[in-house]
Order: sequence, then C-alpha cells, then structure tokens
Amino acid sequence: MHSDSRVPWHALPADEAMRRLDSGPDGLTHDAVLLRKHKEGANIIRPVRPVRPLSLLLLQFRNVLVITLFIAAALSFLIGEGLEAATIAIIVLFAVVLGFVQEYRAEQAVAALRKMAAPMARVRRGGRESTLDASELVSGDIIILDAGDRVPADARIFSSYGMIVDESPLTGESEATEKSADSVFREEAVPGDRLNMVFAGTTIRAGRGEAVVTATGMQTEFGRIASLLGEVPPERTPLQKNLDRVGILLSRAALLIVLFIVVSGLLHGRPFMEMVLFGIALAVAVVPEALPAVVTISLALGVQRMARRNALMRRLPVVETLGSTTVICTDKTGTLTRDEMTVRRIRLREGEVLISGTGYLPEGTLSVAEGSFMPDKAKALLLAAVLCNDAGLEMDGDGIWTVAGDPTEGALVVAARKAGIDEKAERKRCPRIGEIPFSSETRRMLTLHRIEGKGQVFMKGAPEAVLRSCSAVSMDGASVPFDDALKTQMQAAADLYGSNALRVLGFARRDAEDFEGAETGMTFLGLAAMIDPPRPEAGPAVRRCIEAGIRPVMITGDHPLTAAAIAKELGFPGDGRVVSGAMLKTMDEGALCDVAASVSVFARVSPEHKLRLVEALQKNGEVVAMTGDGVNDAPALKRADIGISMGITGTDVAREASAMTLTDDNFSSIVDAIEEGRGIYDNIRKYLTYLLSSNIGELGLIVGAMLLGLPMPLTAVQILYVNLATDGLPALALGVDPPEEGIMRRPPADPKTGVFTPPLMALMLAGGLWSTLCNLLLFTYALHTERSVGTAMTMTFVSLVLIEFFKAYNFRSLTASVFRRPFANRWLNLAVLWESCMFAAVLFVPLFEGPFGVVRLEGKDWILTVLPALSVLPVLELVKLFIRKNQPEAA
Ligand code: ADP
Ligand code: MG
Repeated sequence: MHSDSRVPWHALPADEAMRRLDSGPDGLTHDAVLLRKHKEGANIIRPVRPVRPLSLLLLQFRNVLVITLFIAAALSFLIGEGLEAATIAIIVLFAVVLGFVQEYRAEQAVAALRKMAAPMARVRRGGRESTLDASELVSGDIIILDAGDRVPADARIFSSYGMIVDESPLTGESEATEKSADSVFREEAVPGDRLNMVFAGTTIRAGRGEAVVTATGMQTEFGRIASLLGEVPPERTPLQKNLDRVGILLSRAALLIVLFIVVSGLLHGRPFMEMVLFGIALAVAVVPEALPAVVTISLALGVQRMARRNALMRRLPVVETLGSTTVICTDKTGTLTRDEMTVRRIRLREGEVLISGTGYLPEGTLSVAEGSFMPDKAKALLLAAVLCNDAGLEMDGDGIWTVAGDPTEGALVVAARKAGIDEKAERKRCPRIGEIPFSSETRRMLTLHRIEGKGQVFMKGAPEAVLRSCSAVSMDGASVPFDDALKTQMQAAADLYGSNALRVLGFARRDAEDFEGAETGMTFLGLAAMIDPPRPEAGPAVRRCIEAGIRPVMITGDHPLTAAAIAKELGFPGDGRVVSGAMLKTMDEGALCDVAASVSVFARVSPEHKLRLVEALQKNGEVVAMTGDGVNDAPALKRADIGISMGITGTDVAREASAMTLTDDNFSSIVDAIEEGRGIYDNIRKYLTYLLSSNIGELGLIVGAMLLGLPMPLTAVQILYVNLATDGLPALALGVDPPEEGIMRRPPADPKTGVFTPPLMALMLAGGLWSTLCNLLLFTYALHTERSVGTAMTMTFVSLVLIEFFKAYNFRSLTASVFRRPFANRWLNLAVLWESCMFAAVLFVPLFEGPFGVVRLEGKDWILTVLPALSVLPVLELVKLFIRKNQPEAA
C-alpha cells in the first residue's frame, strides 16, 4: 500500500504509481473500495458542522432581551409578586422554545441544502464507469476528468488529451497549466510544477484525462490549506441586511419612547419597581426581536420548497433577486427542448436517407427518400459519427435505453445501430489516438484513429464549420471535387432542415497521421438532421413568464433557423428576428443595447457574446437571469443577476459560478423558482407589516393613555403576553403563507423600491393607528362608566388581542380583500385557534386572574369589546380598496 512508500507520486512513472496503489486502469474492486473507505474515511475537505440542538437551545438564552426578562422576573419575585414572576418566566420560556424551533428548522434546512449541492465524481471501478458522490472516493480509484470538472481528489494522471488545468485556488497562479501523464519529476518539485498530477479543488479548463487517486480528504494539498482556514459564515441577503438596519433603528426609537413613558410615569408618582417592570415589558414589546429568525426561516423553508421544484439555491440572496427578475436568458437544447434527440434524415451527395423509429430505442430502418441508391451509402457517415463521439448507449434495469454522455452524440449512436453498426466493436477496431474536443466557440470536434495501420481524422460539427474545411465530397465511396455550387446546395439543405426545427451536424474525414493541417482538404461525408422536440412544459412556462412581466430570451449555439423555429413553436415574444453571434461581434455598445431590448432569439452565439448580452441588458435596466453549462459560460453566469447552471449536463465550473442550479435542466423550473421567490418575498413583507402594525398599536395605546393622563391601560404581564405569546405564532404562520393567486400576473418588483412600498406603509400605519384609536376610546369610555379600572383594563386587553388576530388575517394580502380565501393558510388557522384557547384560559381560569390582572367580563362588556375590535376589518378593507384603485398592480 502507498503508506509505506517514501517516493512522492509525481516522481514515479504512472504505471509504477498505479502498482503501488494496488490499482489498474479498470479500477478497484468492490471489496478493495470497502476496505479503503473504512481506513481512509470520507473524501471531504471541510466536514459540514452537524446541527447540535442542545447548543442551539442554550444559545437562545444568550439573548439580551431574554436575560433582561429573567431579571424582570427576579425583580418581581423580590418585591413579593411570586405568581407574577412565575408567569413572566413561563412566557419567556415559551418565547425561547419558539426561537429555538425557528432556528433549528432554519439550520436543518440549510444543512440539507448543502448536502444536495455536494460535488460528484466520475470513476471506474471493476471496469464499469459511474458517477458518484465525490465523498465516496478512496485512494487507488480511477477518475475520469473532463473539461469543466472540478478535480475531486489528488491524483496521478496516466492518460490525457490536451488537459489544461486551472490551479489558481491552490497556487494563486492565474495562468492555467497543461498536464501530461508521461513525465516524471524530481522529488522536491512544488505542487505547481508537478505536471503529471491533478489536485483536489482545481478545475479542468480544457481537454480530458484519466488519473489514479493518490490522496483524499484532508490528506490532499487543498485539504492541508483548508484546515488552516475556518468555516465561512453564511452570507446575509440584502433584505436581511436592510432589516437588520431597520431593527436597530426601531429598537433605538422604541427605547427612547419607553424611557419617556417610564420617566413620566415616575413623575406622576407611580411606584419605581412597577415602572421598571413596565418599561422592560414595553421594550420587549416594541423591539422586533423575532424579525431575523422569521426572515431566515421564510428564506430557508422557501429554498427547500424550491429544491423540491428542482431549483437549488447556491446563495441565499438570490431568493430575493428572483422576485425582481425581468429577463430570463435561456439556452435551447435540453432546457427548452427534451434533450432526447432522434436522427431523422441523413443528407448525402447521392441523396437523402430517411430513418424511422423514436427516442433512443435502437430499432428502425433506413430508407431512401427518392432516387435510386442504397441507404447503405450512409454507413461511411455513420461510422464517422460513432468514432468521433464519446457517448454510449445502455439499457437500464427497466429495459429503457439511455445515453451516457451528450444527447446529440447519443442520437448518432442510435442511428448507427439502426444501420447495423455496433459502436463498441468499431471503436475497438479503430482505436482513437488523438482528439481535439468540441467547444462552443469552434462548434466542431476532431478525432484521430488508427485503422488497419493507417491514420484517419474524423470531424463532426456545425455544417458551416465542417463545410469550410472540405475540398472534396464523398460520392459512391470515392472522393470527388467539391465545387462551390455543390457546397451552396449542401448549405441550403442544412438551412432547410434548420427551418423545420431540426438540429443539423456535418461530417468529414481525411487520411492523416496527425492533426497537422487537418482542418483543410477534408472530404465531406454529409449531414445528419435530428429532431429535438420541445419539452411539453416549456410552452406553458414561456406563457407564464410573459404574463408575469418577464421577457424570455433564447441564446443558443444552434443554427438561427432551428432556433427561430423552436422559438415560434414555444411562443417567444418579438417579431421573429434572430440575431447571430457574428452580427453581435460587429455591433457597438449602443446598437447592442437596442438589439438586446427588442430581439428575443440569439443563435450561433459563443459564450463570450453571452457576457456582452448580459451587460447590455443590465445597462437597459433589466434584472437578468441567465443559464449556462460550459466552462466558458462562467463569466456570464457570474455577471448575471442570477446565474443558473444545469444540474445534469452542466460542468462543475459553471455550477460554481452560478447562484442557482436546475436539477432537471428544465426552463419551467426557472419560472417555478421565480414564483416561489415572489411568494417568499411577499411573506416576509406580510409578516413585517403585521409585526410593525401590532407594535404601533401597542405603543400608541400606552403613549396615548400617558398623554391623556389616563391610568395605565395594560399591566406589564399583559404586554408581555400579547407580544411573546400572542404575536409570535401568527407572525410565523404569515411567514409560510401560501402564495397569492395573482402572484404571476403582476410585474416584477422594482429592486430600487425595497420592502417598504407605499401600500405596505399605508396598511401598516392604518392598522396600527386604528387599533390605537379603538383601544383608547374603549378604555376611556369604560373608565367613564361605573366600571372598575380592572374591568376597563381587561376590556382593552381583550380588544387588543382580538384586533391582532383580525389583523393577522388581513395582512395575508396587501391588496386583495381579507374575504378572499380567508382560511387558506392552515398554519395561521391553527396558530389563532391555539392562541384563542390559551387566551380563553387566561381569561376564564381563576388561577390566572391574579398574575394577569384580569377580571370577569359581563355579556354587555363583551359586546362593547368585540364590536370595536371587529371594526379593524372594514377599515383595512377600505385602505386596500384605495390601494387597488391607485396602484392596480402594486403589492
Ligand atoms: P446549444 O446552445 O443549443 O446547446 P451547442 O453549443 O450545444 O448548442 O451546439 C452548437 C452547435 O454545435 C450545434 O448546432 C451543432 O451543430 C454543434 N454541436 C453540438 N454538439 C456537438 C458535438 N458533440 N460535436 C460536434 N458538434 C456539435
Ligand atoms: Mg449547449
């Protein structure tokens, strides 16, 4: 085993390294993996901190407010109010438990998300390739690395094709380095010079290769560095930061008011201890202490809901940005289309060949459309198609055929099988000895093979790229000159396929021993056209987008005509104009901004154009979501307001640059995520309105009574009860309110306005002031009848609690009537039901009469209390009516 070897891996030849690791090109056996896994542990750099409930619970007691309240309880106890002290303590404990539950759920949600985003690795074990969680890797495992992959462990390379690796996370060196299997280095070489090794945490920028794992987890070079750094604290979202500021501001203002009340109470000759207690209770009432926790829980639970709808958030702030998205730039293949392609037509010099069959099922026949030649003529093209190809075709356990690799290439394998070509046998007969991989810039791929002792180069790619390299065309098995007229004819055939929404590839071959000059003088073999049907949910998703005031924009590397045909089928907006990457290249900034504002389809676009488009759209004031999958998409993904990567076909590089990953690569999941994002944002606003409006009502009542020279309308315990027992659960329930009906029929939120929009302020103030007015009137009236002060206080207490219950239902929408689906929020119903039972106990169980300072109310008192409380409903309805009139689409 490697532990007893002294020579470092980079100083050993590849086969010797392999031998010392007890491995081979086919990989480890199942038993060897189990044994090593046990010995080496999981391949994890920074272990995810487990959620510890107990320490989280203890943390709740480190809160200033909680400590203050316990001091208050102790004070009450000292002045002989034992029962009151116990009541305060119980109310505080209740708040602590609530806070704990909130934070525990939030932490669990975040931990679950981290798990889902875990990196994957492609390995070969016992001769079989599979993709598994990178944490499963052990030393000796054979890993397969492709452009865009993040290297999952330290490994010695034993085969590579033009593998270029970005090692900046490790070395700080921004220049990418070329790696190769063959060389052996001196023992003292630093990691940056060990060109036959790849290191965990670095990324493959181009090329491919295979390597044998030499170190995992904390034993890797990256692990050693990582252990020096601590855990990164979670990022706070703009909204959270904004609310933090609001919280501090409110707390300061509130404390000033509290100070005023306490001082003036003392000046009026009220007992000192009573006023201190009262002051503490009031401070607790007005400081929005639950605000951060509720915001986090709304975000975290929302993010979990999004994950269930196939959108993984990699950064929390995105959730808010989603609500203001105005443009979604999406690619076509696989996102709008099903990505299960089928070759339908092959165009040869001799004529057109039709292929029957559907999907990946390799059953179907080749026939000639018109003319008299054998469909077998397509075999030379199909041979090129399976050799210049990395995809495999497998039948899974349920008898369903699936493609391993790129769906475009898979479709070609299926077509070849229909013609009786077995790709596995051909790949063995004609071994590949070199390749220039496909890239989104060149849009073609080349491979070099050894066939019967001679070298042959194959090319497949976008028709215009292939045609450019050809000077001959294959005709009845021979190469004949390819004149311009014939080339134009072939290009026209490709265009015709494109305008029928078919995806087209061209093929060529040439005798050559290396790639020197290979891209000229090739022999054209023909075209293959495949259907790539739209996803059934893509059309409706595009419509939902447009309804929600969001413009969908297609950006694809595919042919303009294919792109236009699909865009039309899916109902993309615009006048059908398509702008190509070549046109973009010649445009200056002004022209680009104009085009970005009006055109909805961009085709034959390279990743670099994506970046320019994002910037142009942003200059036009748009909030841009953009998808991408390749290495070169990373800059655009980073630049976009929301970078979206593909979970299935995307590369690790794209994923890491993105803010959100689609686990099903589906366009409609983006729209779903936006809907969730709007809902979450709405709920935070509902909760905020409710909380602040309630606080205004309470503070207004006390300050009003003070100014009017009335006695205290509430006791300290009553104020605490209203805040810690009554407000808490309904507020939390508002944080998980189901989305409003019209949520996707209104325009995106303006990011500049922030949370406190005029309608929100209006409702908040109206609710708070009306509550103040009602309770003050009720209290004054009750005092002027022959009722006792105790009765008047109890009536005010009841009225205040009822008003808050009603308001909770009211603030479920900032525009729609409270009578629209009033009981749709199950949690709110449960919360209010539970609170009502508790409240009934406080009012009617004799034991509580003392500590809560409540007295029995008579029937008439009840009517006098409930009716004014109810008035908050029509008043807020009027405000909403006014909002709907003046800002029909506001929220
Ligand atoms: P999209 O934006 O639709 O994903 P791609 O960037 O995948 O488009 O492909 C752009 C063009 O490159 C395609 O129209 C096709 O002609 C060509 N192409 C796609 N995949 C391959 C491949 N594996 N090998 C060679 N050429 C390809
Ligand atoms: Mg693509």
